[in-house]
Amino acid sequence: MKFLIINSGSSSIKYKLFRFPQEDLIDSGDIERVGEPSSGIKDHNQGVKAIIKRILSGPGLSSLDEIDAIGHRVVHGGEKFKEPRLIDSKVIKQIEKCIDFAPLHNPANLAGIKQCLKSFPTDFQVAVFDTAFYQMIPDYSCIYPLPYIYYKKYKIRKYGFHGTSHQFVSLRAAKLLKKPLSRLKLITIHLGNGCSMTALNKGRPIDTSMGFTPLEGLMMGTRCGDLDVAAVFNVMKKEGLNIDQMDKILNKKSGFLGVSGLSNDFRAIKKAACSGNKRAKLAVQIFLHRIKKYTGAYFFLLRGVDAVCVTGGIGENNPEIARELRKSLKKIAPKVKVLVIPTNEELMIAKLVQELFKKKKKVN
Ligand code: ADP
Repeated sequence: MKFLIINSGSSSIKYKLFRFPQEDLIDSGDIERVGEPSSGIKDHNQGVKAIIKRILSGPGLSSLDEIDAIGHRVVHGGEKFKEPRLIDSKVIKQIEKCIDFAPLHNPANLAGIKQCLKSFPTDFQVAVFDTAFYQMIPDYSCIYPLPYIYYKKYKIRKYGFHGTSHQFVSLRAAKLLKKPLSRLKLITIHLGNGCSMTALNKGRPIDTSMGFTPLEGLMMGTRCGDLDVAAVFNVMKKEGLNIDQMDKILNKKSGFLGVSGLSNDFRAIKKAACSGNKRAKLAVQIFLHRIKKYTGAYFFLLRGVDAVCVTGGIGENNPEIARELRKSLKKIAPKVKVLVIPTNEELMIAKLVQELFKKKKKVN
């Protein structure tokens, strides 16, 4: 079976083509700078058409008919979607309803989905939601202590993101530890441009650091993570900023970039810190401090853990982060393993597509 996985973002469309059940990656690529005049790709419709051309001239396919199913990454599924869903007009309407929660991501995801439905012969197209994995976390960990009416009226709550990455890493950890997931307590730490942590008991998340949007939790490339909301009001008053301007500061100008004043990229921050730049050093210290703080909190919530798993571009390529966690855990919990596990969100999406494919088509 061949499954095509599409990640249609606001300015790029990425694809991976897998052969199952072997889980072989047979083609991959991306179309960058969608919507920018210099790229020649005006919109997502043209982007998907360019991908089709590339796939057909690549090593994986000779005809689009060979694709058995397509999996689409959808960032926000709200409370409605607890699992991957075969896309039909009802599912599209529901994703449209979630645009309010993810105004940058969901429209781009939808544009890709709509064009793929037109351009590919297969109608087995599946939406896999970043938020779905967290729909099982308990109320006490996802309801904010705001007036309850805002949850009832506007569905203001923690949703959680990076679900496919945390799920993939937890499954890999079970394999590496040679134990079923149902007997493991894990903390998974995804450190990329966006960063998040999840506490998993028997494979089920019980808490996660990202919230209503991907802004909450750890410090990130350009996002601030947790802070006192009153500080935001204070800055807005003093600088005379409106909501959109402040939103931009919290999401695009904070994190590594904000503290260091240099870059959002961890490589540049690390290099500057090593050559003595004080604010770059401070940025790294804040980053590590928060990871440790969440690790401690999740360790307590889970009443001990079997392994802490580090992943994402930062986690996979900077061994000192896992080393630092090992050092901190050594004295209080020497048996806890710290594993570095490369993530593969597209493969996780393909696995979920396969599950649904088997269920609906009744193939083994
Ligand atoms: P995204 O969240 O967009 O998928 P990634 O998971 O690729 O991003 O993570 C991007 C981060 O990983 C950047 O801060 C970058 O500095 C860091 N990173 C990527 N590759 C390396 C590397 N070889 N060495 C050190 N840091 C790296």
